[in-house]
Amino acid sequence: MDELKQKIIEIEKISSELEPSEKFRNDYLQHIHEYANSFINDLETAKVFSDGRSDRNVLSVGAGKISLPELIGVFKHEVAEKGINAASGSHLGYVPGGGIYMSSLADYLAAVTNEYAGLFYASPGAVIIENEILNWLKSVFGFPMSAAGSLTSGGSIANLIGLTAARNHHGIKSDMIPRSVVYLSKHTHHCIGKALKIIGLEDIIIRYSELDEKLRINAERLAGQIIKDKADGLNPFLVIATAGTTDTGAVDPLFDLGNIAAKHNLWYHIDAAYGGFFILTEERKELFRGIEMADSLVVDPHKGLFIPYGTGAVLVKNREAVTDSFQYTANYMQDSANAITDLCEPADVSPELTRHFRGLRVWLPLRIHGTEPFIACLSEKLLLAKYFRIRLSEIGFCTGPEPDLSISYFWYPSVSVDEDTYNRKLLELIHKDGNVFFSSTIINGKFVIRMAVLSFRTRLRTIDKAIEIINNIRLRLEREFGYK
Ligand SMILES: *Cc1c(COP(=O)(O)O)cnc(C)c1O
Repeated sequence: MDELKQKIIEIEKISSELEPSEKFRNDYLQHIHEYANSFINDLETAKVFSDGRSDRNVLSVGAGKISLPELIGVFKHEVAEKGINAASGSHLGYVPGGGIYMSSLADYLAAVTNEYAGLFYASPGAVIIENEILNWLKSVFGFPMSAAGSLTSGGSIANLIGLTAARNHHGIKSDMIPRSVVYLSKHTHHCIGKALKIIGLEDIIIRYSELDEKLRINAERLAGQIIKDKADGLNPFLVIATAGTTDTGAVDPLFDLGNIAAKHNLWYHIDAAYGGFFILTEERKELFRGIEMADSLVVDPHKGLFIPYGTGAVLVKNREAVTDSFQYTANYMQDSANAITDLCEPADVSPELTRHFRGLRVWLPLRIHGTEPFIACLSEKLLLAKYFRIRLSEIGFCTGPEPDLSISYFWYPSVSVDEDTYNRKLLELIHKDGNVFFSSTIINGKFVIRMAVLSFRTRLRTIDKAIEIINNIRLRLEREFGYK
């Protein structure tokens, strides 16, 4: 016995290193705090893109122990300064992320307390916080309070959950798959296709809707297709609309599609991962009319609410349709059974059991700031997108149609070389420069440069800087390559 105790005491000397003393905690935090401050202070002048590779050897777990200040140096060089700087306001490509400071503090608190956010029994407070966020989302999007919901890691898992509910509600089992039909658009996000495949609907019939000139689903044509498919003995069961497509930020006609889905008894899923929160703005509220008709709805707080990466959300009106797939129990779970009735038990509406307390990173900023600065930020992005397009025209660029939201595209109408060649080269040089970041896409067969204004740090001066860079590179193309 004494020997056993002696052994335990000996080993504790090593294991207790995982619990640093207060002095060390203060010291470590100070290092992190200083680096975080300099990172934020330098963001305005730091590069937003660098195509340099990170050093695998230096980042290897096996590279040996290292002090925190040294590690911060490694992090700075090998992580923060490589690739896309997603925290930068000069990130105007893909769908820019957020990263508001208050969420980082919430994450710190969530990690230190390590609340178990999967079950009410384990952390009633964490589960209530998550439910209250979902309730707030329900009120924003006109959903009934009885709807189920989940905070997910992002839009992809949120879509997966919504589509699983659609499948369950319509009882799409193996024998029905080959004649069941889903309606979507070529501009539907690719995570929808991925989700359909994951949930066993790979062999479903997919009808790509006709689009109007602004790349939105033509509702009338879609209704016609449903009628035809029904007449042909098929089983239409799901309409998917997007409120803010990734390519051009287009909002499908939500109200019309909602009516069509209701009339034909189809599940109505809306992916508003990028665009959803613009409903909070007076200017665009009307565009979202009909969003309340959705059976399932996806939004991404890590996009339109400027939360750091790792937070999406799904709402589903029919609770049983979701829990049918996700509510499970087991002997080792018996203590927590039936702990709640009116709240949504997180583990019952998600593939996850143990989960990060991600509600706190949404709740804390909303409680501290209120919603007003979030809404102002969204309105600001709409105005900046508009301003950007005007400034681009002034320096001779063509821009895509007036966008519904804050994503648009542009290209230079070269007279000396093929337009695609010119714009590819232009983007290549913009990437090399690294002080502003855009991505590209293909619209109607044409290579175009995409601009997406969604970072809370994108300001008027950011757009002015971007215009200056684009124009300088345009002049350089003329000077060095003879491109006009
Ligand atoms: C970003 C996006 C997704 C995917 O969401 P993740 O959070 O990246 O998983 C899905 N749909 C749309 C419209 C998006 O913009």
